[in-house]
Amino acid sequence: MSQQTQPMDLICEITNPFEMVQQRIDDVCERINICEVCHLRLRECKRELTVHFPVKMDDGHVKVFTGYRVEHNTTRGPAKGGLRYHPDVTLDETKALAAWMTLKAAVVNIPYGGAKGAVPCDPKVLSRDELERLTRRYASEIMLVIGPERDIPAPDVGTNPQVMAWIMDTYSMNVGYSVLGVVTGKPLSIGGSKGRFEATGRGCVITAKLSAKHLGMNFEGATVAIQGFGNVGSVSAMLLVKEGCKIIAVSDSKGGIYNPKGLDVEKVLSYKKETGSVVGFKDTEPLTHAELLELECDILLPAALEDEICAPNAPSVKARMIVEGANGPTTPEADRILCDNGKFVIPDILANAGGVVVSYFEWVQGLQSFFWSEDEVNRQLQMVMDNAFHEVLETSQREKVDMRNAAYMLAIKRIEEAMLARGIFP
Ligand code: NAD
Repeated sequence: MSQQTQPMDLICEITNPFEMVQQRIDDVCERINICEVCHLRLRECKRELTVHFPVKMDDGHVKVFTGYRVEHNTTRGPAKGGLRYHPDVTLDETKALAAWMTLKAAVVNIPYGGAKGAVPCDPKVLSRDELERLTRRYASEIMLVIGPERDIPAPDVGTNPQVMAWIMDTYSMNVGYSVLGVVTGKPLSIGGSKGRFEATGRGCVITAKLSAKHLGMNFEGATVAIQGFGNVGSVSAMLLVKEGCKIIAVSDSKGGIYNPKGLDVEKVLSYKKETGSVVGFKDTEPLTHAELLELECDILLPAALEDEICAPNAPSVKARMIVEGANGPTTPEADRILCDNGKFVIPDILANAGGVVVSYFEWVQGLQSFFWSEDEVNRQLQMVMDNAFHEVLETSQREKVDMRNAAYMLAIKRIEEAMLARGIFP
């Protein structure tokens, strides 16, 4: 049975990202009779740290930035989650992203809770030195809560392995020795894991391929449109091409490009590195953000930001399968519309979980100072994603709900079990 059977109704379109997550948690907890205390704990974040800190800019003046680190839940293990640098990021968005991390770690059954960090800033207009000073000062301010046994940051939108290296170094200098396990997504030279950079995209491709098999769709030759051409979007594109898919459109914040015969993804990537955008790549037609989402194709892979597929454009989505590379790309109302229209949505907390899975492998390797081959990393990732996909699909068929609600049910059940086993302190 496919996910279209009896989607759960969501009452109204909420715009606060954390309230959206809370509403989904409420719906699922009520439906599967989760104990009230567990429900109430899950609908709030355990800890929200806001810091304000000064950074010396290159021209000599000092600017005060705000930073957040939110830990949603740590029942199943240390808090884990990325760090976002984006001008529009808010505390509520950071809380939503932290909650999704708790759920994601539970869906793929790795021993982590969820966290997220953010600094509202535009990393594109900061010099490398400014970015380093901002990162080191933010890391010092959140040292209160991070650590390899406590809360482990990783890259997200606007941050990368270099930013993780600065955090690792700042933390290590403060404690007086090198601590590999304090961040993941680090460069290989300081304890990064092979396969981590590609892991989120690889996880998207694994789940897309499994879904195609489930739907009886031809994966080889499938046409794909990808929104966002950063880490997740570009790596997914490259790996999908290796699987024989045809990438017909990609976009970044400046706009999109389209070629129905298929794009040479490697060349698009080099072009973006040279010019800063995919826009203007040879032999392509320009596409607006809206046009990309509504393109005639087999697979749509949103890999940019939240709420891109929303009530006004969801009825026009033509792809049969939507693979949520981004966190929260679909609003609850849009989700219901996609469901009603028979679309197969692989929810973010499953589709993009490859990143946190290999982050977990990186952390384990760092704690043991024993490093795996890339084949070993990819083999273990395949196994974890395969299990999680089938557990979510089986839940969806048994409970007659879509894949998103099934993923939430599976995750929340696991978290409840852990909460009940631990009890309430003191
Ligand atoms: P990134 O910064 O590397 O890339 C983001 C891309 O989105 C950029 O190409 C940017 O130009 C583009 N973009 C921004 N707004 C856009 C718009 N309106 N239309 C089209 N493109 C737009 O970030 P990333 O690490 O690839 O993360 C992308 C998404 O995936 C985020 O939602 C993130 O939370 C999620 N995610 C990332 C990871 C990871 O390991 N990096 C893991 C899980 C989930």
